[in-house]
Amino acid sequence: MRISGPQTERIAQQMLSVLPHARVATSGRFYDADAHPIDTGLALYFPAPHSYTGESILELHSHGSPVVVQALIRRVLQLGGRRAAPGEFTQRAYLNGKLDLAQAEAVADLIDAASESAARAALRSLQGEFSRRVVSLSDRLGELRAHVEAAIDFADEQLELLSERALGQRLRGAIAELQALAAAGRQGRLLTQGITVVIAGRPNVGKSTLLNRLTGHDAAIVTATPGTTRDVLRERIALDGFTLTVLDTAGLRPSNDDIEAEGIRRARAAMAAADRILFVIDAVADPDAAAYGEELASLPTQVPVTLVFNKLDQGTRPPLLTAFGASAPPPAIVAISALTGQGFDVLVSHLKEAAGVGAGTDVPSARARHLEALGAVDRHLAQATKLLSDGGAPELVAEELRLAQIALGEIVGAESSDELLGRIFSSFCIGK
Ligand code: GDP
Repeated sequence: MRISGPQTERIAQQMLSVLPHARVATSGRFYDADAHPIDTGLALYFPAPHSYTGESILELHSHGSPVVVQALIRRVLQLGGRRAAPGEFTQRAYLNGKLDLAQAEAVADLIDAASESAARAALRSLQGEFSRRVVSLSDRLGELRAHVEAAIDFADEQLELLSERALGQRLRGAIAELQALAAAGRQGRLLTQGITVVIAGRPNVGKSTLLNRLTGHDAAIVTATPGTTRDVLRERIALDGFTLTVLDTAGLRPSNDDIEAEGIRRARAAMAAADRILFVIDAVADPDAAAYGEELASLPTQVPVTLVFNKLDQGTRPPLLTAFGASAPPPAIVAISALTGQGFDVLVSHLKEAAGVGAGTDVPSARARHLEALGAVDRHLAQATKLLSDGGAPELVAEELRLAQIALGEIVGAESSDELLGRIFSSFCIGK
């Protein structure tokens, strides 16, 4: 049990009858209101500010039966304590400047890590690697802004100011740094939050059967009637140490049925937001993957595709594909039997690779929230570049740089609303 806050010393005195030495494990008795021992155990006292939260903390290590723990909690409540809200210890650490916001989020990501690589990434962010890069970029933009503002303030004076070309060059340098950070962040988000794949394809090719095999239970209705899956089914699964969110969608085909048409509309929206599309082909009925060729134009261009040739058990072979428009990047190809499980190990390692598991040893953990902020930075820097090259007012360039810095500040929590903090910390477990 951990107790944090300014009353810690008083509560320790009353429960233990002495205040333990700082940072030394002390064996002793924990007493109730009538001075009867509740349990014996170890007490650890961390005086403020040298503790996780930055406040005085007392840790009691008891024998741990629910009855004993309840009695200890009751005693602390009698002495004026209250139960912590989810994530409150880490929230206090953040509010007391022990961690920045991205580090606090990394605590939760470390606790939730589904693979060793995800845990390592979270630890790197917890140790401040991601934050340091964010702050260094922000400093760089601040310096640039100072130059631009100096040009505004001392326009009439003969000062040695950076030429527009030199400013443009520095801006390009900052954009390159941003892009490297965003690339690491994207990889980190895949590791931390897992990937979302959408199972798409014509009706009856085996999409629901594939989902059921991935999840290992009957999550979707499998029938031989085309058009059964009308809504989008979402399953979060832990596969071989990484997290995969799989969406099964309505089969893509023109439909006059309103409900089915709505299902197809949702399927397209889900695909646009996914990290990868598993486009399932019935290798028996459509050995040349004509369905993919027909759908290609309406698939979101930014989402990578894996063609999954299904029904391999019926003796078919995946064809050599050459004919899908030179413009799109060629899809990855995997052949399976959703029915028998043939080829599944290949599919799983393919998804694992797509999820970045085992990739790069220097990836920090990151969240969608961070990537959105980096996206905003990118837009402001693009606008600043445009203004600069169009000979726009330096005030406007400076403003774009300021907005980019604000967006970076949101990542580490230099700028944070109560609403954002509430959202972040409420997702923690109690006691963290
Ligand atoms: P969906 O409409 O794309 O979701 O397709 P379903 O998963 O409902 O499957 C349609 C039919 O194909 C069902 O009768 C399945 O049993 C069958 N099916 C699915 N996968 C395979 C497979 O790998 N091999 C064979 N032989 N049949 C399959």
